[in-house]
Amino acid sequence: MIIADLHTHSLVTNHAYNTITEMAKQGASIGLAAMAITDHGPAMPDAPHPWYFSNLTKELPFVMEGIPVLKGAEANILNEKGTLDFTQNELSEFDWVIASIHRPLLPQKLTIREANYLWSAIAENPWVDMIGHSEMPAYEYDYLSLTKLFAEKHKVVELNANSCTWRPEGKENMRRLALACKENGTPVAVNSDAHSIYRLGQTRDIFTMLEELDFPMDLVINTSKELLLKELRCHNHGVAEKLGGVWHE
Ligand SMILES: [Zn+2]
Ligand SMILES: [Zn+2]
Repeated sequence: MIIADLHTHSLVTNHAYNTITEMAKQGASIGLAAMAITDHGPAMPDAPHPWYFSNLTKELPFVMEGIPVLKGAEANILNEKGTLDFTQNELSEFDWVIASIHRPLLPQKLTIREANYLWSAIAENPWVDMIGHSEMPAYEYDYLSLTKLFAEKHKVVELNANSCTWRPEGKENMRRLALACKENGTPVAVNSDAHSIYRLGQTRDIFTMLEELDFPMDLVINTSKELLLKELRCHNHGVAEKLGGVWHE
């Protein structure tokens, strides 16, 4: 199971239900070693005011309620060029950045060629850490060639447990995405995408799938502190040092 939940929402995302403090407290109580709070970027209708993001890393301590909380965002992909709803400078301020497609902002179905172009552009963005719930069939891309690129560019591919509830049409695509990661040795992270304390850390459905696929567990970066630190050292936000510092105190 996971030691760090790297995709969670607090109630500043309007369809989530708990404060960051409540989420952190729950994370500590269920034994997580770390978590990331990743509320929706400003382009989503349920997003917080932009000032929430600019104040996030300044106002809140790295360790909250006894658990390191990476201050991040789930940035929205706005078009086929892979434009995000934060500036590069804003992205650089976070500990952890997810890039995701959300239907309200990209309602049209993409061709595989368009989706490949979009994800190739995201792969080149130095501040993106994780490719969020990318298995949705309307935005299918060439999993084999793109996961190879993601591995080269140190982008972690997310396998999102919330997709099993909210995006079940992507189940088969998620299996194919995971198999492509297995083939290319691409790192993945299994996350809850919890919108309340009651879902935090709950990822069993994804692990059941990974067992069926005989997926190598050493590619799942959030199953041990060592794997997570090893991956984060290759990312640009400098959070490996902060996390390592807390864990080795
Ligand atoms: Zn999302
Ligand atoms: Zn989310």
